[in-house]
This record gives sequence, structure tokens and C-alpha cells, in this order.
Amino acid sequence: MSKIFVFGHKSPDTDAITSAVSFSYLQNKLGLDTKPVALGSITDETAFALDYFNVAHPEVVSTVSDQVEQVMLVDHNEAQQSADDIDKVEVLSVVDHHRIANFQTANPLYYRAEPVGCTNTIIFKLFKEKSIEIPKDIAGIMLSAIISDTLLLKSPTCTEEDIAAAEALADIAGVNMGTYGIDLLKAGTKTTDKSEQELLDADAKTFPMGDKKVRVGQVNVVDVDEILERKSALLEAMKIQSDAEGYDLFLLLVTNVLENDSTAILYGPYEKEVCEALDTTIEDSVLFLKGIVSRKKQVVPQLTVKFS
Ligand code: MN
Ligand code: MN
Repeated sequence: MSKIFVFGHKSPDTDAITSAVSFSYLQNKLGLDTKPVALGSITDETAFALDYFNVAHPEVVSTVSDQVEQVMLVDHNEAQQSADDIDKVEVLSVVDHHRIANFQTANPLYYRAEPVGCTNTIIFKLFKEKSIEIPKDIAGIMLSAIISDTLLLKSPTCTEEDIAAAEALADIAGVNMGTYGIDLLKAGTKTTDKSEQELLDADAKTFPMGDKKVRVGQVNVVDVDEILERKSALLEAMKIQSDAEGYDLFLLLVTNVLENDSTAILYGPYEKEVCEALDTTIEDSVLFLKGIVSRKKQVVPQLTVKFS
């Protein structure tokens, strides 16, 4: 049994899964006994990346303290986004590119946070710092995460460091970033085979904002109408989740990965506040968010200011 689990956030995206794999690989090269696991099922986009580069899918777990005493967090730090029993294990390290909130430990730890577009960009730098070679398959899934988190380097979260890391990783992986990137993003946009519940859960996070509990989900598409046609069923599912989990508002971002805009569906009583925060208008629960693709940079901070 591995002594240390490495995992990204719940409702894992490609960065959450692959940063667990790449960071675990690095830690094992450095002499530790770690294993990457996933706090939720793997999305179509992530499966495409793992299968393309022949990397095993990490085991899915919901609790960790029944199996290990020590863990390493990647691509998140907030307790709401982590394992349900995160308070029962020791966090040895965190590598992340998100806001730090609702996070405390009993012991000193390694904490590496950088305001870059992807956790794997930081892990790329860690490989360099430790002079550990990145194998082709690991490079391929790290590149996939940068493409996914930055929407092929077009998101406002993307930095020069992400671009440099992506180019170096594409070289090692032996793929053309542009063509592979479009294939990867498209692999994650199939929605017709998913239930409303699955669409809401696929990439959703809960954020405490002031005294409010805010849920923000995101779905990548190439055809927004495919989602808007299901608006009433989605709103019904958002109501059920909000009642069960105590969300004060639930926003589902529907991001067009080719146009780099989003449309959003809002459930909850704070329409006026959300529109003010995001500088838009709402009609029948639907908001258009021109040029907005990043939940982390263009949605969550604006809502946090509004509700704090
Ligand atoms: Mn993530
Ligand atoms: Mn990330």
C-alpha cells in the first residue's frame, strides 16, 4: 500500500487528474512512495488525454483516511473542494494556482502557489528544479492540462510561463499543440449523452463567499444551444442540488471553446447582484458573458467581492 495519496479537487478536470499523476511521478523519483488518486470520475476530455498517451486512469476514491495518513494536494487547497475527510490526514504539500481560502494545517508543510494558468506549469518547473527528466507520456498529459486550463493558451489566466512550458512539453511529447489541442478540447464537449446531473457535476466547485455558499459549474461546448435547449431541466436539477447542499446560488457557465465566450444559467435569488458583479444582464435565467472563459479569474473574484 502506498503511504501517500496525491490528488486534485473534487469533480476533477484534466489538470486535477494529470497534476496528481505528474506530481506523484516526480515525488516517487525523489524517493517517496506516493500514488495518484481521483476525487471523482474522469471526464471525457481527461480520458482522451490519458488514453492518447497510454497513461493509466487513477483510482477514484471519496475518502482517504481509511487508506493513508498523509496526502499531497494539487490544483486546489480549499477544504470544500478536497476529500471529505481531509481534516483526518496530514497534508504534506500543496502545489496550486488558485486563491487560498479555508485552508489550515497542524504541521509545517511545503506550499507552492503561483499565479499561472495551470498546476502542471508549476510542476514542469519543479521537474527542472530537481533535474528530473520528464518522460514522453507524462509530458503529454501535462501538456493536455495546460491546453485544458488555458483553452489552448487563449484564456486570460494564461501566462508566458504556461506558453513556455506547453511548447517544451509538446516537444517532449512529440505532438503538434494546435491540432492535438483542438482534438482534446472537442473530446470534452460532448453533452448529448449526459444527464443534467452529470453536466452540473462534471466541473463544479463550491465557494464560500461572505455568508453565502456559491456553486459554480462549467461546461465546455462547441454548440451553446445544445445546453440552452435543456435549460428548464437543468434549472430543476440545480434547485434539487441547491436544496440538498444549501447553495445560496448556483451558476452554470457554458463556455464556447472555439469562440471564447460564455453563456450562463443562474439558479437562485441573487440575479441583480450577479449581473452587477459580472457586468451583464439576465433574461429568463440566462446571462451572456462576452469574453469570459475563466471561472477563477473572471467570475469567482467578482462574485466574492459582491457577496463579501
Ligand atoms: Mn482544476
Ligand atoms: Mn488547474
